[in-house]
Amino acid sequence: MIEFSEQALVLKVGRFREQDLWVRLFSPSRGTYTAFAFGGCRSRRRFCGCLDALNQVRFHVRSDRRGAYLYLLEGTLEQAYPRIRTDRERLGQAVNCLKFFEAVHLGPEGAADAYGLITECLDTLDRAEAVSGLFPVLFRAKVAFSQGYAPALTACSHCGKGIHSGSLPRLDVERGRVVCADCAGDVPGLDLCSEALDLLEQVRTGRPWDWRNARPHGAARRQCYAAVDHYVRFHLGLAWAGGSFRKI
Ligand SMILES: [Zn+2]
Repeated sequence: MIEFSEQALVLKVGRFREQDLWVRLFSPSRGTYTAFAFGGCRSRRRFCGCLDALNQVRFHVRSDRRGAYLYLLEGTLEQAYPRIRTDRERLGQAVNCLKFFEAVHLGPEGAADAYGLITECLDTLDRAEAVSGLFPVLFRAKVAFSQGYAPALTACSHCGKGIHSGSLPRLDVERGRVVCADCAGDVPGLDLCSEALDLLEQVRTGRPWDWRNARPHGAARRQCYAAVDHYVRFHLGLAWAGGSFRKI
């Protein structure tokens, strides 16, 4: 039997018997896991306000005697993101980020960094005066980059020239690098304007709060969207389909 107490983010909650719930959680030490909340539908005393997606909760968790499953003994609500819940647009963005985050299926390795990223993402959506419509897309890019697929964006990978010294560079998605216009030749990839390139570099080096209000002009916006879509498909094998992110 194991028993522990730790902070976790509630990703999803579902009912499996009349009074019981299953709870999908993400914690900085374990990554994603599922635990049962027996009597969770009615136990206000043990789980007061805790058992909803998007909550950050400190849970006391125990396994059954054989270690086959985990169940929640009690929880203390630490962060509920009230502004996200009352603003449809922010809620939509938060749910989109959470669905993507869950689809990446992170185990214990790298979980502390990933937890930092998703909670900063939610803090930003809750606290910022205005949030860019591109925010969830940039979040996907940051997750992909932080999974070990960060591209080198500042210099041409062929000639080493600083990328802003030439004309339109090209992002070689599969190799995670850029080539300058002179070296692009028949290298497959996506041409990026300097505004799109700067924004992706800001995502690579910065945190969600830094790009909360990024509003690139039309072409740069489309280029960022296409670059992130290709990047996530190729490196994480995920695509948006039918309201969720699916393995492709
Ligand atoms: Zn070059």
